Amino acid sequence: MNLHDVLNRAIENNRKWCSKGNVATYIPELSKANPCALGVSLCTWDGKIITAGDCDTPFTLQSISKICSLILALQDNGREKVFSKVGMEPTGDPFNSIVKLETLEPSPPLNPMINAGAIAVTSLIKGSDVDERLERLLTLIRAMADNNQIDVDWEVYTSERETGNRNRAMAYFLKDIGIIDGQVEEALDLYFKQCAIKITCQDLARMGLTLATQGIGPCGEIIIDPAIAKLAKTFMVTCGMYNASGEFAIRVGIPAKSGVSGSILAAVPHRMGIGVIGPSLDKKGNSIAGVHLLEELSREMKLSIF
Ligand code: GLN
Repeated sequence: MNLHDVLNRAIENNRKWCSKGNVATYIPELSKANPCALGVSLCTWDGKIITAGDCDTPFTLQSISKICSLILALQDNGREKVFSKVGMEPTGDPFNSIVKLETLEPSPPLNPMINAGAIAVTSLIKGSDVDERLERLLTLIRAMADNNQIDVDWEVYTSERETGNRNRAMAYFLKDIGIIDGQVEEALDLYFKQCAIKITCQDLARMGLTLATQGIGPCGEIIIDPAIAKLAKTFMVTCGMYNASGEFAIRVGIPAKSGVSGSILAAVPHRMGIGVIGPSLDKKGNSIAGVHLLEELSREMKLSIF
């Protein structure tokens, strides 16, 4: 089987879905993305990158960054501390939902992949100020992607900081109930910056491979503790595609994490990493063509872990 052909065919077959969704507009800068774009990169076990479609367009990590902040928070604090601030259960609610924070008792956010849980996790990252914490997060992401050029897209960051009132509301609520210990504005600032980190499909594919290998980076060094890499992938299966994670597990069956930029990071254990971009989103905020494309790749290459 020629992987180039498989990827090219998957792009051709699934581009039609782009017109069935919409680009995110609630972060104004994201509305500039091309709704017709669709690209995929695959990083095989030996580190080889294969790409198809619109792969050179950069985009921001958005919710995919939640995986990286979780890894760093776990490395910094250990499981006990992190999971005293955030739960381990899927929600069935949209990623930016606020409702369960007050109606459930006890009230830590249900998991680290919804916005409330991710902001709580980000507040646990160690460093003397936001700049140092961001630099530590960038160091992890650059190592996972084997790309020292990765940095924040300042336009997207500013756009989200200026409009992120729902996230701000959640963060202040979390401060009020004792989930965030430090400065709320610092936690939010780091969260907005991590969401605005700019990458490409190739970066995502390498990051996926790092998770697929249980934490060994593209150059063979240990980047993530294997137990933490395993835990991150487990959250990807149960909560990575928001409240569509159950359907995604059935249709695709690969640990994955999506972001509202239309990006998807997928890690096929012991086989490969996959990065997808397709800014047109379905109703739940996942790349509409990207999910269909991964479904085809999973079927063609027998990638389901189940
Ligand atoms: N930055 C986005 C937000 O906080 C991330 C959400 C997402 O990608 N689903 O709203």
